[in-house]
Amino acid sequence: MNILIVDDDQVDRESIKRSLKRPDYSSQVQEVESVDAALAIIKHQHFDVILLDYNLPQRNGIELLLELQGDSTIDNTAIIMMSSNEEDELALECIRAGAQDFLTKTEISAFRLTRAIINARTRSEMEQQLFKSYTKTKELAEKDSLTGLANRYFFDESLKLDIANNIRTNELIALLLIDLDHFKFVNDNYGHDIGDQLLINVVNRIQSCLRGSELFSRLGGDEFAITITNLQSASDASHVAKRIIAIFDEPFEIGDLSIKSSVSIGISVHPKDATGAKELFKYADIAMYRAKKLGRGQFCFFESSLQQQFFSEYQLETDLRIATENNDFSLNYQPVLDGITKNLVGVEALIRWNNDGTMVGPDTFIPIAEKTLLILDIGKWVITEAISQLAEWNKHLSTPISMAINLSAVQLKDLSLLEHINTCLSNYRVDANLITFELTETALLIDSEQSTHTIEKISEVGCKIALDDFGTGFSSLSHLIQYPLNIIKIDKSLMPSVSDEKKVKHILIGLVSMVKSLGHELVAEGIEQESDLELCTSLAIDKLQGYYFDKPLTANQLKDKYLS
Ligand code: C2E
Ligand code: MG
Ligand code: MG
Repeated sequence: MNILIVDDDQVDRESIKRSLKRPDYSSQVQEVESVDAALAIIKHQHFDVILLDYNLPQRNGIELLLELQGDSTIDNTAIIMMSSNEEDELALECIRAGAQDFLTKTEISAFRLTRAIINARTRSEMEQQLFKSYTKTKELAEKDSLTGLANRYFFDESLKLDIANNIRTNELIALLLIDLDHFKFVNDNYGHDIGDQLLINVVNRIQSCLRGSELFSRLGGDEFAITITNLQSASDASHVAKRIIAIFDEPFEIGDLSIKSSVSIGISVHPKDATGAKELFKYADIAMYRAKKLGRGQFCFFESSLQQQFFSEYQLETDLRIATENNDFSLNYQPVLDGITKNLVGVEALIRWNNDGTMVGPDTFIPIAEKTLLILDIGKWVITEAISQLAEWNKHLSTPISMAINLSAVQLKDLSLLEHINTCLSNYRVDANLITFELTETALLIDSEQSTHTIEKISEVGCKIALDDFGTGFSSLSHLIQYPLNIIKIDKSLMPSVSDEKKVKHILIGLVSMVKSLGHELVAEGIEQESDLELCTSLAIDKLQGYYFDKPLTANQLKDKYLS
């Protein structure tokens, strides 16, 4: 064992050495007479134990202790303080300064010294362990285990601190919220291990375009944040955002896979946008949401107009929730006429929402209903209402009319949809082939097993399936073959009154002949003008719908005009 005695009194040193010789462990003892000499020797040599006198010339023992605090060279060294002074207060002061034990010089004996050394070493080891586990716990609490970045807790705390320090300066802090686009797709399709690898690769690339003074953190999942402090102008943050977006141009090579990814970034700036950390986060989030909406792989600064828009969308969502609970909707019915006789052969049910006196169009609220899944309840209400209305009308008609109901892609994933349709058909005794469900190509594009299964089952029940808005989306031939489609509805944008371009007319003629050759029934929607009607008639389109004949009508208006 290596022992260092720090004592300026030669008599005391000799007495200590004598005591150390007696016990049966071998020890290498060295001695110095001052704090400075001790510091010099400790720098180059490791000691297991330091026996340190309190009373030393120039600087006392406590000063040595204080100087050694936090010094890793004494990590495994036990320090025992000695003094001729018997005051408890001094003993305590020494322990507080970092000594593991305290002995008065009068009590030094071979036995006491040995025991003190053993105690002090044990205590020192325990302190080391405690420190290690403290460091580990702190790391766990502040670091993200997958990427090694700061975690949300640490990031929040640092941002608050940065804001507090920024208050008296004219500088800016930018908060960048970064979200990986379509990360769920990677996880779902390649598994979580590949997802994790992608996150690590993403972090490495982002790190390569930072200077090192920024705080880069993983907030959770595929969400990251960066704070950039001491900015002179907000546009400096956009340079960083542009650099980050650019590094996603190259795909990520993970194992045999080549994964193309992108990020959306929202930026808020302190103190321009907000003075508190919480608001700054909220606004960066709104900006990120906007960036995603703009088409992903983009960045967006927060603007107060964004906040306005966000709040009004949020308000609409809240209102829609209440409307769904109360079934505050109504259906309008647009006549569908036979192409030759121009007689009414059916109607299309179109939902209407009167939100406290303001009519909100389906194009505005259906996307919100889909995002919030409220469409599942709303859609079921539409089906019940439309089928019961059709039953009521057909009771009095010799030739029954048909009903077209729009279905959203989200509804196709609803396992209870089919049962609901069957229940309505049997409750109102409506023949299934009088009901057409209209789907857009986007719904067919999802191509999930569940969606395909639902379409097939609806078709097996006897209901018809129509492809809505044909000619606006992908207009893919494979959809016409892959799904059990009965009817194709040509979109209004292909009508000559909307676009008098020759090319569009030729597209329409081509589409009509293609669809006819496949044996599907054709419906033209959006007939507004005489010219539209003429073209559709010349192309022998089976059924016609549009403002030229009628706008969507209330149930009573339709009954009065067509069914009485
Ligand atoms: P859609 O299924 O293609 O319905 C036709 C839309 O075109 C209707 O708009 C209708 O009012 C409008 N329209 C009809 N004739 C003409 C015309 O001659 N000229 C013009 N410019 N427009 C015409 P609306 O009622 O605003 O509905 C918009 C869309 O909202 C619908 O497009 C449909 O995709 C969706 N939607 C409506 N009701 C429901 C519903 O109950 N469930 C679901 N999932 N979606 C619905
Ligand atoms: Mg439709
Ligand atoms: Mg349509």
